[in-house]
Amino acid sequence: MGIGPAIADGFYYDFDYSRPFTPDDLAKIEAKMKEIIEADQPFFQSKVSKKEAVEIFSQLKEPYKLELLKEIPDDSVSIYRHGNFTDLCKGPHLGKTGEVKAVKLINAAGAYWRGKETNTMLQRIYGTAFPTQKELEKYLENLDEARKRDHRKLGPALDLFSFHEEAGAGLVFYHPKGAILRNILEDFIIKEHLKRGYQLVSTPHILKSDIWKMSGHYEHYRDLMYFIEAEKQEYAVKPMNCPGHILIYKAHRHSYRELPIRFFELGTVYRYEKSGVLHGLMRVRGFTQDDAHIFCSPGQFKEEVDKVLDFVEDVLKLFGFQWEMEVSTRPEDFIGKQEDWDMATRSLKEVLSERKTAYQINEGEGAFYGPKIDVKLKDSLGRTWQGATIQVDFTIPERFDVAYIGEDGKKHRPVMIHRVILGTIERFLGVLIEHFGGAFPLWIAPVQIKLLTVTENQISYAKGLAKDLRNKGFRIEEDWRNEKIGYKIREGEMEKAPYLLVIGRREEAAKTVAVRKRGKGDLGSQKADKLIKNLEKEIEQKRRE
Ligand code: ZN
Repeated sequence: MGIGPAIADGFYYDFDYSRPFTPDDLAKIEAKMKEIIEADQPFFQSKVSKKEAVEIFSQLKEPYKLELLKEIPDDSVSIYRHGNFTDLCKGPHLGKTGEVKAVKLINAAGAYWRGKETNTMLQRIYGTAFPTQKELEKYLENLDEARKRDHRKLGPALDLFSFHEEAGAGLVFYHPKGAILRNILEDFIIKEHLKRGYQLVSTPHILKSDIWKMSGHYEHYRDLMYFIEAEKQEYAVKPMNCPGHILIYKAHRHSYRELPIRFFELGTVYRYEKSGVLHGLMRVRGFTQDDAHIFCSPGQFKEEVDKVLDFVEDVLKLFGFQWEMEVSTRPEDFIGKQEDWDMATRSLKEVLSERKTAYQINEGEGAFYGPKIDVKLKDSLGRTWQGATIQVDFTIPERFDVAYIGEDGKKHRPVMIHRVILGTIERFLGVLIEHFGGAFPLWIAPVQIKLLTVTENQISYAKGLAKDLRNKGFRIEEDWRNEKIGYKIREGEMEKAPYLLVIGRREEAAKTVAVRKRGKGDLGSQKADKLIKNLEKEIEQKRRE
């Protein structure tokens, strides 16, 4: 036996077993678990000396437990027993096995001992438990739904994007429907930034290594960067947009009257993520951030963070997400002065407290240049995803000698806030696909309306309608094929188009269309101009159905 901790959604246990566990094995183990639960065996904890523990686990022939014991610094360790089973465990445990009410083994997978590829491959069994059968069933339902909504399946099924191993792992190819979806999101987020006083900038994809040495990335971030050499000059593909924005800031002298200055860019960056952690759109090697850097005076800092949080909440609400906030503190590998770190961390906490926003502390998870607020968004299935981040930075401005002229006529150092709202367009799209199960609201749906003709006699009337709709800016698709209308409708529904417009003889004669709305079914016939007005209203309000 290896380790068997509790995790967010349940628990796992690792076993050194000769072969992978099969679903049959899991069923048998589950039956045994139920037996033990019914026996209502009490759990006994005992504190024993490390020496005693070594004897116990030697006798039990548990080499992995012995290895774990070696690393426990204390003299006494905690052991739990129930029935004839003994395990090394800090606890706490329930009183008796009978208190376990609803339990289920989910799956099995290989896992290296202690996560190290050079170690033995163990067999890990994942399971979960709930206080009631009803809660367990709800969880299993969600799990099932999550599988169906997996963006790695839905994305290609909806013809949004693909990956090509021969071109490189973790690099996304957007198909026409994915590219338009992405473009709509980008358009939306650019407008939202301009509304809030940000200025749009654009910076190159490669910069000389000297810049990355100055920023500290060369030293602290190098393992995640791609390098190019040309004419004996080393360049790095940008993993972050910050230095570019700093150079733009430094192109002019700035007075305190201009602050805050907010530079925004849809910045495409590349980071070398290990192939093992790549995951669909959620973890990729090339991605675009909705990235901004705010240069402000120390006195403006808290208000700016507050405004960014307003921005984040507005956007997440619009898409129907809930969220959780975390404050990530100083990591082991950091630059800058400890007192600046402490001050910045305190300020972030203060802003959250003043907003009455609950938050958790993420010890040591800050960026190497400053602490940050992480926003975890919660999707329609209750799963959390990395979303916005707001990072404070006192040190990179120092390294680049970024300054403004204060009221006193002297040079001062601005505070720099690095922040993203959607995070990366890629991950946000992945989350959106799963959040909506591919059924996007009208305003972002890559195909908003599909026109279907009943017979070929209606094609010329339908073409006229299609032209009108396109002129009005709607994203439409035409299905003039000589197929049964029922078949065409089913296909349109599978593609999750928000509206299907069916055009038959009657519709042509009355100069109407038969409207079918996703999730609502047949809405009857409508005049085209009335329909267009309704659709425009729905788009304007960015409604979610
Ligand atoms: Zn930055």
